[in-house]
Amino acid sequence: MLDINNLQASIEDKQILKGLNLQVKPGEVHAIMGPNGSGKSTLASVLAGRPEYEVTAGDVTFDGKDLLDLAPEERASEGLFLAFQYPVEIPGVSNINFLKTAISEIRKYKGLPPLTAKEFLKLVKEKQELVDFDAKLTNRSLNEGFSGGEKKRNEIFQLAMLQPKLAILDETDSGLDIDALKIVANGVNQLRSPDNAFVLITHYQRLLEYIVPDFVHVLYNGKIVRSGTKELALELEEKGYDWIKENVSA
Ligand code: ADP
Ligand code: MG
Ligand code: MG
Repeated sequence: MLDINNLQASIEDKQILKGLNLQVKPGEVHAIMGPNGSGKSTLASVLAGRPEYEVTAGDVTFDGKDLLDLAPEERASEGLFLAFQYPVEIPGVSNINFLKTAISEIRKYKGLPPLTAKEFLKLVKEKQELVDFDAKLTNRSLNEGFSGGEKKRNEIFQLAMLQPKLAILDETDSGLDIDALKIVANGVNQLRSPDNAFVLITHYQRLLEYIVPDFVHVLYNGKIVRSGTKELALELEEKGYDWIKENVSA
């Protein structure tokens, strides 16, 4: 589904990604961990197609297509979801209208007509139930000052509605309390299927107490320096990132 080969990327002439390799297959959940400043958010931004980042080498294939050749909105239409790509605060736009537009755009890209009002409402109802989303939030304006937990609920509801093939969640953990973590974890666990995949970017092991990943990778200094199963996350928690730093420089 996702095949990243020797990806190198810079921002403001500073090289951040230094030859990153990663393969994700349908049905898999991958966790990417690593110390602050190692390039985790940069990886997510490059995959999203944010223009400030310059890709200097390597290639990325997504579902058989050259991802780096696609505009950010085309990447979304192809089924790539990045949590921060969908702003939760848009003045004057309700959550539901935002989703209606996003789904119409994706369908248009695929040559499909928009959903009828009835089909759309059916989808909303079905997904609200699936991820236990409060109907009150559905109709609220996107600029109405969501709390941290509500933002996470909303993110999971967007995921459920848009049904991407690959979702990348950069959790910026520091701001997440345990309730928000559980919202994210329950949502991901509900939405995991043999047809989709998740990449969870996380600094701490905490999130992985609720979501059991198939693979754990350590990103350090712009590269994936170690890959393993969920035990690797526990080992990291125990030994700290200095253990990785020492092992890489040795
Ligand atoms: P992580 O998410 O792993 O904490 P980031 O990808 O955010 O790491 O950052 C990796 C490196 O890129 C850091 O050294 C950071 O200072 C640098 N960086 C990130 N954004 C910018 C920017 N806009 N301008 C210059 N340097 C940046
Ligand atoms: Mg950081
Ligand atoms: Mg980050």
